[in-house]
Amino acid sequence: MNLRKLLLTGNNCYIAGRKIAPAGIMLHSTGANNPELKRYVCPDDGLLGANRNNNHWNQPKPDGREVCVHAFIGKLADGAIATYQTLPWEMRGWHAGGKANDTYIGFEICEDGKNDAGYFTGVYREAVELCAMLCRTYGIKPEKPALLCHSEGSSLGIASAHSDVMHWFPMHGKSMDTFRADVKKAMEAAAEPVSEPEPTSVAVIYRVRKTREDGASQIGAYKELANAVAAAEEKKAEVYRVFDENGKVVHDPSASLTDSSTPVPDPARTCQKRKSMSKPATDAASPVPDQKTIIEEINRLLPLLSESDLKRVKRELEKTLQIKH
Ligand SMILES: [Zn+2]
Repeated sequence: MNLRKLLLTGNNCYIAGRKIAPAGIMLHSTGANNPELKRYVCPDDGLLGANRNNNHWNQPKPDGREVCVHAFIGKLADGAIATYQTLPWEMRGWHAGGKANDTYIGFEICEDGKNDAGYFTGVYREAVELCAMLCRTYGIKPEKPALLCHSEGSSLGIASAHSDVMHWFPMHGKSMDTFRADVKKAMEAAAEPVSEPEPTSVAVIYRVRKTREDGASQIGAYKELANAVAAAEEKKAEVYRVFDENGKVVHDPSASLTDSSTPVPDPARTCQKRKSMSKPATDAASPVPDQKTIIEEINRLLPLLSESDLKRVKRELEKTLQIKH
């Protein structure tokens, strides 16, 4: 959604400043062939373009009428689709010509000649996203009678007799039922978590498991690389590896024992079926050659080092790996 804000502070509705607790949303369309936002929203913010006819809605009685809505959807001067919030969402609007004004947020979609499918798709999508956002904010269900168009409000006796938006939407294969379903879908998509939460505390860095993806196989997570390496070495017959926070293998006990060109059996299956096998297999998660060289070097040095030497090596290794990332 391309949402912007330009309040119509010169409109009598804004000046009256009555409050509502939004419990519904009413869609309108302007009923005039003029998709330009500047027809209604003023002054020019550099994107709208100038209204040279002085017939915008930022004046006490636009077109001689007491009308005002919470938002307009239409075209900027460069042709891009945008939404302009024109009243605070919790201010009573003058859009329905009936008692819907007391509880419904109302917005206008600027009509064009009603025959441009590209324009329709753009403003329809924008309206869906605006409604999804308002439904979430105010706990409004995207269902009848909370989400209506003006003509549906007329049928329910809470708005004046107008035909918007149902004189337009069906020309492009849409209706208020498709609209409500699309708002529901948009709300569900927005509610999905964007990423998997970290299973362990932030202090833990090195995880010991069979493969990066197999979280269930994890036998430990360590702040100290040396401890993680020791845990993986202890279980090396079962092919455990040490993974860093980015999921890269930083230690693979099998890499030092096996030629990386050997065919790759499934490690889990190998362990279950042939427990006596002394030489664990590698898998596709083996480190790239230069990283492998570092790890082999660490393997060679580890038994020779004192506790303080180990810590220094660990710091050096972390530095090196970070450079590689
Ligand atoms: Zn209307």
